[in-house]
Amino acid sequence: MGVADASLVEIVPGAYAWVQPEGGWWVNNAGLVAAGDGAQAMVVDTCVSSERTRRFLSAAAEATGGAPVRVAVNTHQHGDHTYGNHLLPADTLIAAQEKAREGMVQDPFFDDVPRVWEPMPDWSDAVRRPPGLTFREALTLHLGGVRAEVRHPGHTAHTPGDAVVWLPEQGVLYAGDLVFNRVTPLVFMGSLEGARRSLEWVAGFGADHLVPGHGALLEGAGIERSLDEHDRYYAFVAETAAAGRRAGVGPLEAARGADLGAFASWPDAERIVLNLHRAYADAEGREMDMVAAFTDALAYTGGPLACDA
Ligand SMILES: [Zn+2]
Repeated sequence: MGVADASLVEIVPGAYAWVQPEGGWWVNNAGLVAAGDGAQAMVVDTCVSSERTRRFLSAAAEATGGAPVRVAVNTHQHGDHTYGNHLLPADTLIAAQEKAREGMVQDPFFDDVPRVWEPMPDWSDAVRRPPGLTFREALTLHLGGVRAEVRHPGHTAHTPGDAVVWLPEQGVLYAGDLVFNRVTPLVFMGSLEGARRSLEWVAGFGADHLVPGHGALLEGAGIERSLDEHDRYYAFVAETAAAGRRAGVGPLEAARGADLGAFASWPDAERIVLNLHRAYADAEGREMDMVAAFTDALAYTGGPLACDA
């Protein structure tokens, strides 16, 4: 799978997902909402590289007959969802939760990312473009008759500033990285406990269609199935961390000793090491050591982390 395998899928009339297989490291999904009056459009997230973002925006323009992108929402701070922001029109208003904006402004990865992936994703031509509009809990957009509710779960989950975009009339939820569909969930820059708690909140929207931050689109009973899988995975990480701490071993040893079972088949399984680093840090009430976490993830895989971006 590569850049050319991405496609714009119309989920229901006017609500689209930009789906980028296979959804591993730095390869995200994004969204497009066409206004009811056809005069404007909104996007949900951009992509890591200019090539991926240009493909997305060009497919969006084609689908909407060139309707101008007036508004964009970033679901969180991570670069695979935001580094393409600079390619949005200059007059596009970008919105995000206030902690997501803080994270984007301070993001050390933008200029100096740990070179742990192979091949490395490329955003060397990107210009930092943080959101111009922030909110704490909620924001509602009215796009020519289409209501789009942007909501923060109220606590740290995947990151401190996560947001979802909910189209109540269409039953479509853009969940960002609160949901990874059969791609290993990542919580190292957030909270394991908070990510687990956010699952019930996501379920509460009662969505018919859900666009995960990574992985294939979900609908109907598949949504509940996926949220259950997340819950089992997070429980597994919590139990592995607790057992490792009881045994007096670090996150790497705990990961090596754990049987991932069915989770081993999900892309980016080595995230268990990063997630355990988060779980240990939270249990011990200290900051997570990012360098140690990546060093251990490399030791776990025995080489660079596979990347398709
Ligand atoms: Zn993310």
